[in-house]
Amino acid sequence: MFIDLATSTRKELDACDVAIVGAGAAGITLALELEKSGLSVAILEGGQGAWTELSQNRYQGEVSTSDSTKWTFWVLAMIPFAYILFVLAGELKASGSRETGAVASSIKNATRILLVTWLVYPIGYLFPVIFNSFAGDLHEGAETARQLAYTVADITAKALYGLMILNIAKARSGDER
Ligand SMILES: Cc1cc2nc3c(=O)[nH]c(=O)nc-3n(C[C@H](O)[C@H](O)[C@H](O)COP(=O)(O)OP(=O)(O)OC[C@H]3O[C@@H](n4cnc5c(N)ncnc54)[C@H](O)[C@@H]3O)c2cc1C
Repeated sequence: MFIDLATSTRKELDACDVAIVGAGAAGITLALELEKSGLSVAILEGGQGAWTELSQNRYQGEVSTSDSTKWTFWVLAMIPFAYILFVLAGELKASGSRETGAVASSIKNATRILLVTWLVYPIGYLFPVIFNSFAGDLHEGAETARQLAYTVADITAKALYGLMILNIAKARSGDER
């Protein structure tokens, strides 16, 4: 049941055992688990039932329709992002130089994969912005391309990379034996 707390008397909340503020991944997971244990749960989420500018005005880099705002957020986000990649690559290089043979070359490959796949995110983010400046209007194809880029990056930078790290750990344990 959905209740608009702005207009209701909020009496429905009295019947709930637990109230969770925020219907994000954590809030919803928690609510489902609590419900399984027989508790009655209310989730309180911000915003209104329909789209409003105020409720969406959280992350201008994503929701803004202005290209200059998107570019500004891209540049601002790239500063810590580039630093994080730089530190990660440096640490991986240092750990690779402490290894030999197959482990060293696997770390080298993992470093390359890390850099290439993580760079897909800022490039994918720009697809609609760049397309917009050529075509003059937001095109669904550019948004689809962006989501596809994110999906490919999610699979490679997270799942595939995780498997690579697992293999490196296995090879290392094999070397130590
Ligand atoms: C642009 C962007 C891209 C991302 N991409 C990915 C990705 O590709 N893959 C991935 O795994 N993760 C991604 N993440 C991270 C992921 O979204 C977060 O890790 C995840 O949403 C955190 O879940 P959460 O439940 O802790 O918080 P949130 O999802 O932030 O949920 C918190 C909720 O609480 C609500 N809330 C806050 N204060 C109040 C209040 N006072 N009253 C009522 N409601 C309130 C908010 O409206 C929000 O809905 C991305 C994040 C961002 C910002």
